[in-house]
Amino acid sequence: MTKYSEAFIQEMPKSDLHLHLDGSLRIPTLIEMAKKNNIKMPSYTVEGLRETVFKSSYANLGDYLHGFQYTCAVLRDLENIERSAYELAVDNQQENVAYIEVRFAPQLMMDVDKGLTMEAVMTAATKGFERAKKEYNNSPAVKSGQKPEFDYGIISCAMRKFGPKGYSPYYTNFYKMMEFSKEMEVIKDAALQMVKAVVKLRDEKDLPIVSIDLAGQEDGYPPGKFRDVYAYAHKNFMHKTVHAGEAYGAESIFQAITECYADRIGHGYYLFDENKISDPSITDKKKYLSELISFVADKRTTIEVCLTSNLQTNPEIPSIKDHNFKHMLANRMSVTICTDNRLVSDTTVSREFQLAVDNFDIPVKHLKDIVAYGFKKSFYHGSYINKRNWGKKVMQHFDSIAKKHGYLD
Ligand SMILES: [Zn+2]
Repeated sequence: MTKYSEAFIQEMPKSDLHLHLDGSLRIPTLIEMAKKNNIKMPSYTVEGLRETVFKSSYANLGDYLHGFQYTCAVLRDLENIERSAYELAVDNQQENVAYIEVRFAPQLMMDVDKGLTMEAVMTAATKGFERAKKEYNNSPAVKSGQKPEFDYGIISCAMRKFGPKGYSPYYTNFYKMMEFSKEMEVIKDAALQMVKAVVKLRDEKDLPIVSIDLAGQEDGYPPGKFRDVYAYAHKNFMHKTVHAGEAYGAESIFQAITECYADRIGHGYYLFDENKISDPSITDKKKYLSELISFVADKRTTIEVCLTSNLQTNPEIPSIKDHNFKHMLANRMSVTICTDNRLVSDTTVSREFQLAVDNFDIPVKHLKDIVAYGFKKSFYHGSYINKRNWGKKVMQHFDSIAKKHGYLD
């Protein structure tokens, strides 16, 4: 098994394609913002919040998600959105992450009466990322070609579940307006509004919104129910990713790819678990899984792997070595290493890579493939030719760093 030093993992160029803005704030910033906006939190110290909310291990998914009410509350403020976006990009740049695709559900932050429209929210986030990008790309290390340029994209999430109260002012109003519709109709219509808005903002305001995503409670809300939302994105050349197979069976991954045209899958954890299949029409579960694994691998549908987050939210994974990542590697799937939530999971991209290489056998050529997928399978905002040239530069940089640390000749 190849051992990799922390210095190498830190220095090699990386990406993060599965990264939630509202789960990745800096704690001191969150405290400052909460004080400024009078948001009630159980503690206003870093230690206190680490003890009560943002812990290193969680009892269950609900416990894990508890902290999002505070982060979303502070993000209902344009200045705070911009600042959080800026800081998130800077934190990534400091560990040589050359590309991030940051996701959030804009409707969770929206409050139209207070000026928090879709356009205002998306513009504020873009401003923050853009400022960090410009500063970094104008630094001597990048200007002289020592380091690759930094870039980013925004992924807009639809919530697969929300109720009449407690999610956000926007969702509450939306629910009220739709009082004669069924729950699923309300949820789907909100998602349709989101996708129409982001296509328009991308096309008319040139905002770097590159993909849509489906987030939130998976059980009971399979991707197929959002078919029309994804069809709209598809028709408009918007990329697609779906949280699937995180808390629901492999059939949701199949649905995401075939009915929602997903180019990537968030987590995809249960792709390997017969017992999680609940579709009664699948009788030979073993055969179904082996065919589905080959199908996903052959299509190069990329799995966004979030090791720490899975360990924290899924009590069925006793230790890192039991994680299905081992099957993904063995089946030569296209995978990329991601953080999910830097704050809530208390992690970084370097830490996630270190966890992967310390616990699984990944020779340097395979590691290079995994790093490359993070750029090749990104939803880069720009032409394919530009993406290709940029990806090549990043991978040349990978080679030089790997040589410097003695992992490549
Ligand atoms: Zn996620």
